[in-house]
Amino acid sequence: MQEIMDANPYALEDGSHIAVIGGGPTGSFFSIFAMKMAKMIGEELNITIFEPKDFTKDGPGGCNRCGGVISELLVQTLAVEGINLPDSVVQKGINSYKLHTTNGSVSIGTPLFEKTIATVYRGVGPKGIMGKDKESFDNFLLNLAVKEGALHMPLRIDHVEYRNQKPVLFAKNKKIRDFDLVIGTFGVNSTAVKVFEGLGFGYKSPAITTAAIAEIGLDRDMISEYFGNSIHLFLLPIKDIKFAAMIPKGTYVTLCMLGKNVTAHMVNALLDHHVVKKVLPENYEINCRCLPKMNIGAPKVPFTDRIVMCGDAGSTRLFKDGLGAAYIMGKAAAKTAVFQGVSKEHFHKYYYPFYKSIIIDNYFGRFLYAMTEIYRKNKLLCKGMLNVVQKEQQNVHDRKRLSTIMWDIFTGNERYKNIFFRSLSLKMNIDLLKEFAKLSVRFY
Ligand SMILES: Cc1cc2nc3c(=O)[nH]c(=O)nc-3n(C[C@H](O)[C@H](O)[C@H](O)COP(=O)(O)OP(=O)(O)OC[C@H]3O[C@@H](n4cnc5c(N)ncnc54)[C@H](O)[C@@H]3O)c2cc1C
Repeated sequence: MQEIMDANPYALEDGSHIAVIGGGPTGSFFSIFAMKMAKMIGEELNITIFEPKDFTKDGPGGCNRCGGVISELLVQTLAVEGINLPDSVVQKGINSYKLHTTNGSVSIGTPLFEKTIATVYRGVGPKGIMGKDKESFDNFLLNLAVKEGALHMPLRIDHVEYRNQKPVLFAKNKKIRDFDLVIGTFGVNSTAVKVFEGLGFGYKSPAITTAAIAEIGLDRDMISEYFGNSIHLFLLPIKDIKFAAMIPKGTYVTLCMLGKNVTAHMVNALLDHHVVKKVLPENYEINCRCLPKMNIGAPKVPFTDRIVMCGDAGSTRLFKDGLGAAYIMGKAAAKTAVFQGVSKEHFHKYYYPFYKSIIIDNYFGRFLYAMTEIYRKNKLLCKGMLNVVQKEQQNVHDRKRLSTIMWDIFTGNERYKNIFFRSLSLKMNIDLLKEFAKLSVRFY
């Protein structure tokens, strides 16, 4: 081991100290995998997760604001890793999406006919939630990291500097210590971005937009009656709203809106839309609202010697499956740090290919969302698309090409690149063209 250390001064060794800034999913995934991998090579790491939020609290204090949809892919990948989401974490199993437009609605069932998507809360739930018998997703993962041997310190890191070529962390103006490696997993809703920009190694805040979340309080029976086990998705011609989703959970439905810098006023406009009114019962209460930031573009320089940015603070999937990206990137950072080393060169060679592959995949995502925008805004295209999906859903023997494309876009279940290539299917595009031709005769 001494020989490896001499050859690689940036190798972690038994007893190395790692600071994880942010105990959201990325920080916990990194810690779980780094602890496991180090044990595999007979080393013990000292990982400290700095996380000021208490995920056992209801309301904003314990919440990492998000829709809380765990994709099929992530549920399955975690199961393979031996991480099974317990019933106490899952609020509802989802087996279909219902798409609503001004031209009608259509249901798209999971291609596997199982309830494979899970909805969760990132904290305990909206302020004052009744029956706190459920555990939050973030608390579950943080506890797993602690079980693996990581230490959780409820501190907010407010300053970082380099001393003797090692990053030193501070909280409340007090020095904590120097670290062999610092992982920035503080997301995009954090002032820590500025702290790392100030270090001058080239890290800049990810490109962001503002999204909206509202928690709609309803009783369990109402949720079953109105929503069943479906996520309801809205593609409506409301200015600057790309799409909105209503995600059923225990006694709430989480409304998530994505678009161009969404405002509270736009949430009201959506709730007042006649298509949305048909989906919701007449009387409901909004118990919680927020306008969280969302990462829509990765920073170019996410690492330097002994510092690496990960998850939302680095590169994540566009609009969907940020939790899946947290898993991929957390594990990639852990693998690099434990098996290769923690220099800028190590991160460039072993971590950056994963980082870049998400950036490249998001280019395909941007194209697919641009196409969705065209369909959302054009009545004829939107109706034609709905008709094709409806026919596919009614025909048991159909290969359901468009339905599965839409399923994968909505659920974030598949790489955008793969969806893009499937969208070139000749058969599907001929079906769509035939439908558009039929409708244009009727429309004009
Ligand atoms: C409106 C919206 C809806 C979404 N819906 C979904 C969805 O349904 N499914 C999905 O997969 N993804 C969804 N996402 C994306 C998902 O929320 C993120 O990709 C995911 O939370 C990223 O995890 P993270 O650990 O990198 O960051 P975060 O979850 O943001 O965690 C960062 C943590 O760092 C802590 N922190 C911040 N600053 C400091 C500091 N200075 N010191 C110490 N700790 C600090 C914070 O308290 C927080 O706990 C959604 C995002 C938005 C905005």
